[in-house]
Amino acid sequence: MRFEALTTSHSRIPTNIEELDKRSSLFGTNVFNNEKMQQFLTSEAFHKVQAAIFSGSKIDRKIADQVAEGMKAWALSMGATHYTHWFQPLTGATAEKHDAFFDLLADGRGIEKFGGRQLVQQEPDASSFPSGGIRNTFEARGYTAWDPTSPAFVYKTTLCIPTIFVSYTGEALDNKAPLLRALHAVDEAATGVAQFFDKNVRKVHATLGWEQEYFLIDKALAQSRPDILMTGRTLVGNSAAKGQQLDDHYFGVIPSRVLSFMSALEKQCMLLGIPVKTRHNEVAPNQFELAPVFEEANLSVDHNLLLMDVMDEIADQHGFKVLFHEKPFAGINGSGKHNNWSLATDTGVNLLSPGSTPMKNLQFLTFFINTIKAVDTYEELLRSSIASASNDHRLGANEAPPAIISIFVGKQLSDVLDELEGVSKGKLSPEEKTELKLNVVGKIPEILLDNTDRNRTSPFAFTGNKFEMRGVGAKMNCAKPMTVLNTIVAKQLTDFKKEVDALIDKKSLKKDEAVFNVLREYIKTSKRIRFDGDGYSGDWEAEARKRKLSNNKNTPEAIRVLTSKESLALFEATNVMNDKELAAHQEVELDNYVFHIQIESSILSELVYNHIIPATLKYQNILLENIAGLKEVYGAAHKNLTEPQLNILEKMAEHLVRAKKLADQMTVVKEKSNKGSSIAKRAQAYCDDVKPYFEQIRTHVDALEQLVSDELWPLTKYRELLFVK
Ligand code: ADP
Ligand code: MG
Repeated sequence: MRFEALTTSHSRIPTNIEELDKRSSLFGTNVFNNEKMQQFLTSEAFHKVQAAIFSGSKIDRKIADQVAEGMKAWALSMGATHYTHWFQPLTGATAEKHDAFFDLLADGRGIEKFGGRQLVQQEPDASSFPSGGIRNTFEARGYTAWDPTSPAFVYKTTLCIPTIFVSYTGEALDNKAPLLRALHAVDEAATGVAQFFDKNVRKVHATLGWEQEYFLIDKALAQSRPDILMTGRTLVGNSAAKGQQLDDHYFGVIPSRVLSFMSALEKQCMLLGIPVKTRHNEVAPNQFELAPVFEEANLSVDHNLLLMDVMDEIADQHGFKVLFHEKPFAGINGSGKHNNWSLATDTGVNLLSPGSTPMKNLQFLTFFINTIKAVDTYEELLRSSIASASNDHRLGANEAPPAIISIFVGKQLSDVLDELEGVSKGKLSPEEKTELKLNVVGKIPEILLDNTDRNRTSPFAFTGNKFEMRGVGAKMNCAKPMTVLNTIVAKQLTDFKKEVDALIDKKSLKKDEAVFNVLREYIKTSKRIRFDGDGYSGDWEAEARKRKLSNNKNTPEAIRVLTSKESLALFEATNVMNDKELAAHQEVELDNYVFHIQIESSILSELVYNHIIPATLKYQNILLENIAGLKEVYGAAHKNLTEPQLNILEKMAEHLVRAKKLADQMTVVKEKSNKGSSIAKRAQAYCDDVKPYFEQIRTHVDALEQLVSDELWPLTKYRELLFVK
C-alpha cells in the first residue's frame, strides 16, 4: 500500500485555479441573508425575524409559515431538493438528517412542500447521539429547534437550517444551546455596564474570530496509514531527518497543489458567507492556517464548523486529506485554533478597544479588568472548556500553550494597572481625578500603538483590541470555550455593576469614582492570573503552583471542575446550564475520552501485531538466509563477514520482544480499565494506566523502523507524509 500510495501521490498535478468573479460578488450567494429575506419574505415576516434576532422575541406559527414559504421559494431557486436541520451534538461534529421538499397530494400529484412546522422543529433520531443520561431520566426523545440568529444556507442541493438540539424537557443535548444562553447572559450583563458610559447602548454581542490551523496530507498517503485513517494521527513513525528545524516552510511559497485547494475552498466559503481572509503556511511542514474576518460569536462558531466540513470535501476533490487533529505527528508542531474574542455594542463600539477620550478609556479599562477578574476567578473552568483527549497532547504536554491559564497584558498595560492600584479609597480629590484622566487613562491609546510585543507562549493574551485564547484545539467546536468565556464574563460584569451601584447609592460616590474604586480592588485580587513571562518554562510551573493556579494536564482531571459547587452556582446564576446538563455534558466528555483512547490502543495493537511484527520477521529471514549462505560459501571465515547482520538481528529481536510484550500488557490493562465502576474511574484508568503504553511501544516500533529495510517497511514514513508535495 505504501508504495502504491507514493506512486499515486507523485503523479498528481495541481488543478487549475479559476478566479473569474470578484470574491465580493460571490459572497453570501448561498445564504438566506437579509437581502434575500427582504426579497422573499413579506415585510411583516421580515421585521418579525429581525426582532427575533435582535431581542430574542418569539416567532409565532403564522409568521413561521410565511418564513418557511419564502425560504422554500429561495432554496428551490438555488436548486435545493432537500432540507435539513443542521445541529451540533455533543460528539463535536455537526449532524444532519435530510428530508426532501417533495411530497404527495391526496390526488397522487407530487409537490414541493415546506411549512412553518418543518422550519421550527424537527425530531431527529436522538438515540444515536450522546445525551449523558438526560434522555434516560426524562423523555426518550429530543428535538431540534430553529436558531433564527444564524441564517439558513444552501450547501450542494440541501437547505441547511441551523438549530439547537434539546430534550423534550428543554435540557441541552448539544453545544449550541448553552452557547446561545451564554451569549444572552453576556449581552444583558455587558449592556448594563456599557450604559454607565453610554445610555444609548441597547445590545452587546460577543465577537469571535478564529484562526484555524491544519495539516494537508496527500489522500493516498493518508489512507495508507491505518492510524491516520482511524484516529487522525500517527501513533508510530520515526521523525523525519529534516523536521521543522530549518523553519523554511513558514515564510515559504504556498505549494501550487495546496494553492489550488485553498482557492477552491475560499470560493466555496464565499458562497456560504464565511468571510475567510488570510491564508498562510504554518510552522510545520505541510501545515497551514486560515482565518476569517471576525463575526458575532454564534455565527462565527457555525461558520467554523461548516468550514471544517467543506474543507474535508474540497480536500478530497484535490487529492488531499485534512488533518484537524491537535497533534498528528510527534516531534512536530501541533495545530490549534486561536479564538480571538471581544465584546461589541449595537452602537458599533468595540468595548475592548481603547478610545480617544478618557471616558472611553475608562470604559475600555472596565471591560478589560473585568475580563481579567473573570478569568482569574474561573481559570480552572476555562481550562476545562478546551480539554479533550487529542488536545491533551498540546496543553500540558511538551507543547504550548501550557495547561495553566494565565493572562498576558504586556508591559505598558501592566504599568497602567499598577498605577490604578494606587487610586485612593472612596471619593477622589480633583487633583487625583485630573492626574488619572491626563496621565493614566488618557495615555492608553498612545501606549497600545507601540505595544507590539506579543507573547506567543501565553494561553490568554491581550492583543490590542481583543483577547486571544490560544489553547483551543484545532478540531474542537469553539462553542465550548466560547460558552464558558462569555458565561464567566457575564457573571463578573453583573457582580461589578452591583458593586458600583452600591457605592453610588450608599457611599454617594460619583459614577467614575465608584468605577475606579471597584476596579482598584479587582486589580489587587486578580494579580496571580497575570503573567508576562515564558509560559513554557519549568519556572512558571513552580511559580503557578505557588499562586495556586490549576495545572490539570489531562482531560479526566481537567473536566472534574465542571460539576463543582462553584461551577453549578455560576451556570445557574447566569441561566446557562443546570446541574443535570452539567453532569450530562461531563459524562459525555468522559465517554468521548475513553472511546478515543480505546480506539487508539486497539489500532496501536493492530499495527504491532499485523504490520510491524510481520515486516520485521521478513527482514530477519532475509538476514538469516544471507548468513546461512555466507557460511556455506566461506565456512569458518564467515564470522568476519556476518557481524553486521548478526548485530542488526539482535537489535531487532530486542525491540520486537519489547514491543510485543508491551502490547500484550496494554491489552490486559485495558480490560482491567473497562471494569471501573464509574465513567470517571474508567476515564482516569485509561489516562493513567493505558495511555502511558503508547509512548513506550512507539519507542520500540520507531527503533525497528530505523533497522528494517526500507522496501519492507509497511507504513508510510514521516518524510513521505510531510515532504511529498
Ligand atoms: P495573529 O495571527 O497575529 O494572531 P491574525 O490576523 O491571524 O493575527 O488573526 C487575527 C484574528 O482576530 C482574525 O481572525 C480577526 O478576525 C480576529 N479579530 C480581530 N478583531 C477582533 C475582534 N474585535 N473580535 C474578535 N476577533 C477579532
Ligand atoms: Mg493568533
